Amino acid sequence: MQPALFISHGSPTLPLDDVPARDFLMGLGHSLTRPDAILVVSAHWDTPLPQVSAGAHPATIHDFYGFPPELYRLRYPAPGAPELAAQVAEMLGEAGLAARLDGARGLDHGAWVPLMLMYPAHDIPVVQLSIQSHLGPGHHIQIGRALARLRAQNVLILASGSLTHNLGELHHRASDAEPDWVRDFADWMGCAIEEGRSCDLVSYRRLAPHAARNHPTDEHLLGLFVALGAGLPPDGAHQIKGRRLHTSTTFGLLRMDCFAFD
Ligand code: ZN
Repeated sequence: MQPALFISHGSPTLPLDDVPARDFLMGLGHSLTRPDAILVVSAHWDTPLPQVSAGAHPATIHDFYGFPPELYRLRYPAPGAPELAAQVAEMLGEAGLAARLDGARGLDHGAWVPLMLMYPAHDIPVVQLSIQSHLGPGHHIQIGRALARLRAQNVLILASGSLTHNLGELHHRASDAEPDWVRDFADWMGCAIEEGRSCDLVSYRRLAPHAARNHPTDEHLLGLFVALGAGLPPDGAHQIKGRRLHTSTTFGLLRMDCFAFD
């Protein structure tokens, strides 16, 4: 049985940066049972309805601007998995979540940056699933629940976002020291995840300290709820305790924490 993971992907430059989160992701692939396929839920693919990448050879998308030229030369030529994509769309449909296949969609940096570190041989088929940022945490838990059975099929569910994500303040920070408003929020989220307080997490914008400042928009956190939903037991229980696999901070404001739900 594969876990469902929520990982923080950080800056697109992560493969080039000598930071603890990069080292952690480079070791993470080795620490897991090798999956037959990977379903990535990336914060960087946001669509009105769920969409599933269905091409056999997904391209590497360089969906960022103004970064070092070597970053634009990186490629992650993993195969796609059209049959798995069709199964994902079908499972979502059965759960009342109409989904569409997209044969032209490639892998964005929310997918290929961590995958390049975790599985550099790019020999495991990858399918991407989009988020719906206008539908909030509850919708994303439903998506995770609908897809939970894939874990028993040796499919790794990898949700990729960021535990904190205020890019506006990132460019105006005075120092690289982590401010209280980042630490307090990340601590609250980490405790709620490890204690299995799923209902509190769904209401994180109201309950967690400095939630809106850490996530002016919450697309980078919604994958957490897909992973949480995929980890919930099939008996309808609403609680699962996540395990924190990693914690670190880059650029003072980006918490790179990663969690497993299994
Ligand atoms: Zn991102």
